[in-house]
Amino acid sequence: MADFPVALRAGERLGFGMTGYFDHNATTPLSAAARAAWLRAADRHWHNPSSLYRDAGIAAQALDAARERLADLLGAEAERVVFTSGATESNNLVFATAARLLGSDQHVALSAVEHPSVRAAARGWLGVERVQVLPVNAHGILEPATLQAWLGQTGPRAGLVAVMAANNESGGLQPWRELAALCRAAAVPFHCDAAQWLGKLRAVGLGECDFVTGSAHKFGGPKGAGFLLLPEGAPWNDATLVFGGPQESGRRAGTENYPAVEAMVTALEERAAALAGDPGGRDAFEARLRAAFPELRVIGAEAARLWNTSLLVMPRHSNLKWLTRLSRRGFAISTGSACSTGKEGSSVVVRALGADEDELRRVLRLSGGWDSTPTDWLVLAEALVAVGTELDAGGVGQ
Ligand code: PMP
Repeated sequence: MADFPVALRAGERLGFGMTGYFDHNATTPLSAAARAAWLRAADRHWHNPSSLYRDAGIAAQALDAARERLADLLGAEAERVVFTSGATESNNLVFATAARLLGSDQHVALSAVEHPSVRAAARGWLGVERVQVLPVNAHGILEPATLQAWLGQTGPRAGLVAVMAANNESGGLQPWRELAALCRAAAVPFHCDAAQWLGKLRAVGLGECDFVTGSAHKFGGPKGAGFLLLPEGAPWNDATLVFGGPQESGRRAGTENYPAVEAMVTALEERAAALAGDPGGRDAFEARLRAAFPELRVIGAEAARLWNTSLLVMPRHSNLKWLTRLSRRGFAISTGSACSTGKEGSSVVVRALGADEDELRRVLRLSGGWDSTPTDWLVLAEALVAVGTELDAGGVGQ
């Protein structure tokens, strides 16, 4: 067995110029451009943008310029952008506002594969009984006909629909353009959590959704920075979760984190400029594994998926055994979504597809990055094959 280093950090290279970091859907390393932008902003424009002297005014202008740049990337108007601490806060801002603005007879609908920060926020702010979970098909995708049926029902009035752009576990791409159009035709606001889409696929067009969520650290930006795109007009443009100051047009109180915003927007611009489609490697990785483990299940493989993600139900052995042994060899992978880490078998997607508890304990998520090469993916496949042989043979660490 090759002698792999034990503790690699995110993005760090294994021997032979290869990286063992395959958990980009959990978080990505800060890009060099974003880091430089953060340092420049923090050194030059550290003043409080709300203060009234010249340097503060320059910081406020820089913040607004960053807002314009982000809005351009999304194909939206700058006034719609609220800077937040990340996707979790943005999702909460949507449902906190829905709780304030919707009538008590209005319900919201979510896909069955939403991130916990959508599902729990909807239930927390509106109450479980006002949240309808719409089933997905066998590939984890919400079919437009399912949403259409909900919108056309005679029961509770439709108040808001939330469907993510790309799934954090399977990478499954929801037909958000079509879903948004159905909602527009029914005059129901549409929220799209694009935390996993941004940086991996083109952002432009997302502005057509009424609400859009993004998180900087998913695309090479810093942690603790994100945004929410709001609808343009009343009443929904009057959204507030954090009260206490006039920042962000009163929609999000608290001194703005301009350096983090600058770094976030720089990272997304960098990704937008570099997007050249699929860098390759994931499909050959899956083919190698299918050959080695004929009973392997690859979740959502027959539907459109992010190019970087592979969600597997391994044929045998618990995911923690796989993860621990791969970690010892210098690979960083996940057992589902990072937000469910520690809870073995907690994949939202695999559960939504009707898996039993035993299958749920065998879920692995591999998510490559922009710099993962086809060779990196193949090295990972060979490591999985080797770990499989080790686990089948039994022994210490079983
Ligand atoms: N939505 C999705 C789809 C995500 O993947 C994540 C991160 N796992 C979040 C929301 C939450 O992002 P953050 O932790 O940056 O708030």
